[in-house]
Amino acid sequence: MNVLSGLSLEEIENIVLGLGGSKFRARQIHNWIYLKSVSSIDEMTDLSLKFRQELNSVAKVSDVKIKVKQVSNDGTIKYLLEYPDKQCVETVLMRFDNRANLTACVSSQVGCAVNCSFCATGKRGFIRNLDYKEIIEQVLTIQRDTGLKVTNIVFMGQGEPLLNLDNVLKAAHIFNESFQIGARRLTISTSGIIPGIEKLSDIDLQSTLAISLHAPNHNIRKQLMKIEEKYPMDKLHNALKNYIDKTGRRITIEYLLIKDLNDTAQSAKELGIYLKDLKCNINLIPYNPTEKNDYKRPDATSIMKFKYLLEHMGKKVTVRLERGADIDAACGQLRGRVLKAD
Ligand code: SF4
Repeated sequence: MNVLSGLSLEEIENIVLGLGGSKFRARQIHNWIYLKSVSSIDEMTDLSLKFRQELNSVAKVSDVKIKVKQVSNDGTIKYLLEYPDKQCVETVLMRFDNRANLTACVSSQVGCAVNCSFCATGKRGFIRNLDYKEIIEQVLTIQRDTGLKVTNIVFMGQGEPLLNLDNVLKAAHIFNESFQIGARRLTISTSGIIPGIEKLSDIDLQSTLAISLHAPNHNIRKQLMKIEEKYPMDKLHNALKNYIDKTGRRITIEYLLIKDLNDTAQSAKELGIYLKDLKCNINLIPYNPTEKNDYKRPDATSIMKFKYLLEHMGKKVTVRLERGADIDAACGQLRGRVLKAD
C-alpha cells in the first residue's frame, strides 16, 4: 500500500498514471495532501467516486499515529508520533504571540548518537534515521490535527540533522516545493558536524544554519557535548568561517546558559572573541532544569549581563522566548516524560 504523505508530485504522478489517471489528477491529489491537509482519500471531493475507490485500493494518506498530544498553557502543542515500526518521535508546534508564524520543530532521527549531557534524547542512544517522508509526515500531522498551515520549520527536534543530511535535504526540498514554505523559513540545526557543514557550504540552500555551540571554550564544551572531542571548536570555527564566506549567509549560534558553568562574564568575553569574525545572531537559551542532571538556570540578572557583554562586543543577541516548558517541550527537554509514561 502506497502512503501519499511525503511523496513528491512526480511520485504521486507515477501512482496516478499507473491507475490510468492524468497528471492533472496527480496535481489535485498533491494539493489535497499538502495544501488542504486531508486525512483520507474520501475527502478529495473533486475526484470522481470511481477514481477515489481505485486510489483507495492502492494508497492511503498516512500511516502515522498520534500517540500522545499535550497542549501547553502558552499554546505550544507537543505530539508523540508513532511510525508503523512502533518507533516514536516528538514534534512540536510553537506559536509566538507577537507574530503570525506557526513554527514546527521536527525530529530527524529516532534517538540520537551525539549524547549531549543536557539532553534527554541523547540518553536514549541512536535508534535509526527517519526517511524524508517520515520527517514530512510530522508537519502534515500537525496541519491535519490543527487545521492550520505551518509557516516555519526548524530541524531542532530529536536527532542530529547533519548525520541524516540526505533525508533532511530531501524533506527541505519538499517543504519548499509542495508546502510552499520558503527556504528562508527553514532552519537546520547542528551540534557541529563539520563534514555536514562543509557539504552545506557547497550547495545553494537559502535556509538558516544554526549551531548548538553552548560553550565559550574547548574545556567547557567537552563537559557539555561529547561531539567536541571529534569536532573541536577551533576546527568548527574554520568550517563556519568557510560556510559564511562561501554562502554569504548569517548563521545562528544557539547558547544554552547554565548557572555557574558557562554564564560568567569571562565566558561571555571568550564567546565574543570566538565569534568575532563570524557573521551570526546569538540566541541565548536559559536552561530549563530537568530531574536528569544537576544543571541550573541562571537568574535574570546573569542572563541580562551575559547578553549585554556580547552586545558590547558588537554581536546581535536575543534571549529565546521559552515555549512549552510546562509540557517538557522546551529546548533540551524533548522526549522526557511522555515516553516514560508508556
Ligand atoms: S541536543 Fe541534539 S545533538 Fe545533542 S543529544 Fe540531544 S538531540 Fe542529539
